[in-house]
Amino acid sequence: MPIFRGPILNPQSENQCNFYKDGGVLVGDDGKIEAVGDFDSIEETRGEVTEITDGVIVPAFVDVHVHMPQNHVRGQFAGQLLPWLQNCIWPEEAGFRDPRVADEKAKKFYQDLAGQGTLLSLVYATIHEHALHSTFAHKIGDTIAGNVLMDENSPDYLSQSTEEAIAITERCAREYGEHFAVTPRFAPTCTMELMMAVGEIARQYRTWIQSHLSENLDEVKWVSELFPDCDSYTDVYQKAGLLSPRTIMAHCIHLSDEELDILKETGTKIAHCPTSNIALGSGRMPVEKIRKWGIPFALGSDVGAGPSLSLLHVMQKYMEQHAEANVEATPQDALYRATLAGAELLDRGDKMGNLDIGKEANLVIVKTDEQPKDAEGAIRDIVSGSMEELEGKVEKVYFQGKEVV
Ligand SMILES: [Zn+2]
Repeated sequence: MPIFRGPILNPQSENQCNFYKDGGVLVGDDGKIEAVGDFDSIEETRGEVTEITDGVIVPAFVDVHVHMPQNHVRGQFAGQLLPWLQNCIWPEEAGFRDPRVADEKAKKFYQDLAGQGTLLSLVYATIHEHALHSTFAHKIGDTIAGNVLMDENSPDYLSQSTEEAIAITERCAREYGEHFAVTPRFAPTCTMELMMAVGEIARQYRTWIQSHLSENLDEVKWVSELFPDCDSYTDVYQKAGLLSPRTIMAHCIHLSDEELDILKETGTKIAHCPTSNIALGSGRMPVEKIRKWGIPFALGSDVGAGPSLSLLHVMQKYMEQHAEANVEATPQDALYRATLAGAELLDRGDKMGNLDIGKEANLVIVKTDEQPKDAEGAIRDIVSGSMEELEGKVEKVYFQGKEVV
């Protein structure tokens, strides 16, 4: 059985991260963690020791919002949200109508994702059914994904009839069950009829639901024009029956108190994507209010609006963006939001998200500049540097104790 020896960061909550300067993780034959702590406390005789000399052991990252078909165009911007979608993203996603293109790019996506240490993800595919099959076929680690729904206000080359969108969703929900996410792109590209029908499918097959909510002010205004009978953007999804404890809404930047109340009451959770919000000039999610309302949230890269799949980069910008507004986002909190919080959001907190005994040995070796002395210093070390430097920091990645990168 392998034993990993080196500095260990083991996040427990937004306020606490256990740190072992000379730590050890003992992995059982079943790929689960049998012991973790100071290296002295691990019975050395029980396995072969892998020494980590210039890095730190952290749990594998969790990305709760990422677009598979945008991986190869990540960080290519054309203004704010709506023009960027129309001019840059939708023509790219249309290329996935070719099954070979979809398959190659899905494979590359998971290689790149695992290369950055992410082994659990909540993923948007495209409107094409075969693209979703390719997504699952190439996953590395665990993934939840859905075919994107667009039956209105979408270009002809990337649109489906309401009936077709419902039929695909039902087939995929039946096939993938708890790994499937009903995925209306966002309210502007979906009719109420479609959203209500897929909400019903999610309940029937106990799947996840994911969408975008209140990212950009032009978008919020557009939604109010498209759905004049609804009180707010959040109310659109509520009337459609899409808000639930298994719903993850991305962004949630410009919400009223009443909308936050709805999210709280329905048990809806939030994917917070600071790198994307900065890139598209969408604004800052008011993390202090989300905390006050007690709405669970975790970090997402939102690639391709987010320019990098690196959760280290997302952690860095999470700390920076809120600090600029004089709102605290500590290093310990950032690591928690990039690991355990995401696993908890996706109902996998009992088997993933940190390095506690009994969980899967999903761990990442991240290069450090200096020998870490405490949790805060170690986290500050791994999130320091340019985006390119951060993307080069992941040295090795293990899924259930086996090397995958
Ligand atoms: Zn997104």
